[in-house]
Amino acid sequence: MAQEDVFKKLVAHCKEYGFVFQSSEIYDGLSAVYDYAQLGVELKNNIKKYWWDSMVKLHENVVGIDSAIFMHPTIWKASGHVDAFNDPLIDNKDSKKRYRADVLIEDLMAKYETKMDKEVAKAKKKFGETFDEAQFRSTNPRVLANKEKMDAVHTRFVEALDKNDLNELKQIIIDNEIACPISGTKNWTDVRQFNLMFSTDMGSTSDGSSKIYLRPETAQGIFVNYLNVQKTGRMKIPFGIAQIGKAFRNEIVARQFIFRMREFEQMELQFFVRPGDEMKWFEKWKETRMSWHKALGFPDDKYRFHDHDKLAHYANAATDIEFKFPFGFKEVEGIHSRTDFDLKQHQEFSGKKIQYFDPELNKSYTPYVVETSIGVDRMFLQIMAEAYKEEKIEKENGKVDERVVLKLPPALAPVKLCVMPLVKKDGLPEKAREIINDLKFDFNCQYDEKDSIGKRYRRQDAIGTPFCVTLDHQSLEDNTVTIRHRDTMAQERVEIANLYEILKAGVSMKDLFKKLK
Ligand code: ATP
Repeated sequence: MAQEDVFKKLVAHCKEYGFVFQSSEIYDGLSAVYDYAQLGVELKNNIKKYWWDSMVKLHENVVGIDSAIFMHPTIWKASGHVDAFNDPLIDNKDSKKRYRADVLIEDLMAKYETKMDKEVAKAKKKFGETFDEAQFRSTNPRVLANKEKMDAVHTRFVEALDKNDLNELKQIIIDNEIACPISGTKNWTDVRQFNLMFSTDMGSTSDGSSKIYLRPETAQGIFVNYLNVQKTGRMKIPFGIAQIGKAFRNEIVARQFIFRMREFEQMELQFFVRPGDEMKWFEKWKETRMSWHKALGFPDDKYRFHDHDKLAHYANAATDIEFKFPFGFKEVEGIHSRTDFDLKQHQEFSGKKIQYFDPELNKSYTPYVVETSIGVDRMFLQIMAEAYKEEKIEKENGKVDERVVLKLPPALAPVKLCVMPLVKKDGLPEKAREIINDLKFDFNCQYDEKDSIGKRYRRQDAIGTPFCVTLDHQSLEDNTVTIRHRDTMAQERVEIANLYEILKAGVSMKDLFKKLK
């Protein structure tokens, strides 16, 4: 199935089974804003817990905060967002559609890459075991021609970004004949900068209201609390402050479902280190964060690092962890060495001394910062995209059945267990409720007595429930039930008294944490 079709099905599945709804749907929706539904919120909370505990619980020198979304407007002047939090915008005059100029060029480069990958895949199939990919990539004329074109675009692109040369960005689009996907024409406006921050007014006008911004990142809430946390927590460098919270960006192009939203959620860590130590910590956090992703058990080749072509105004090193979505490799997390830029700026703008006295060095300095910043929503989409599977099942009678199953990491699954009485009578529903009442304090459980057992299994497969338990008349006699495993569909008879241990071993987050570096 084409990847676009898989993605369409996934979006439909998210709605049909109560994971994600379009915001304000009965009013025809609000662009790039989404609501998490009854199951979506459970998955989202589990992702946040996986991140929070891995940061705050497992690191003695990391603490968390929850700062307000509204902050003093000068913070955004100091951080550089008022002047520089821009994306280059370009309009197609015929379709009147708006695009990010940099994304149009990045998409072009990705096309060359896809062409090269296709050549490699074709050759791999042809030559089998004996295939030498590195040699093929360095000698095949079609691969080399595409690489040359891609490199040429890349060199011009990086130079244009470095110089902030908007005319050159447009020229790259013209020279490479990039067309609008809607109108198909190359009739473009000039490129101009667009500030992504939302603003609103605080206070009543008679008092003199002031313009404030909805935070475009949670990081600044950490920087302005650096002194408070360091002092009250008696934190010693190196140490980190973690935060999960909403962020808002007036994105130019809203597409790909919850990948790019105007209201989204970030999980950020700011890690404060000695000046000069930042590269060591940058490498360390790259490794730690990649292991957090890979612990989920998705294939290794779905992840890669991508170093930034252009460093943000505050960074001296930056890389992204990219995941292979159905629409290609895209950023899920950014890891940035932010230097002492933010703390120094806040020191200057607030007039307060923001420093750390290092008892080992016997001197004061402004700490350097290494940041890891991941979008909860992109992580959600990544997990759903990877978990969604359509499977064919060979039945004993020779017929082929189909099922849609979400192979979610069990520790993140919204529902851990569904308890099903075989029939709605003879005391089986009551016994089923007893099991739930016993387990509900530790695990999210559902009860289902409607339709055939097969249909009930399918419903649970579609929402990724790792375990189902069926009670029959034998259960009343010997306190055993049939437990069915989502991925293998294997069934076994177990004692009700053992269910707690089975579930604990099967859905615990501890196993994920133990894999972390
Ligand atoms: P992009 O290049 O895709 O716009 P970015 O580099 O601006 O992303 P960062 O500022 O590094 O993103 O933000 C850190 C993380 O926050 C991203 O890796 C992403 O997971 C998430 N994020 C950023 N913007 C959005 C958005 N509009 N919708 C959903 N998540 C987002």
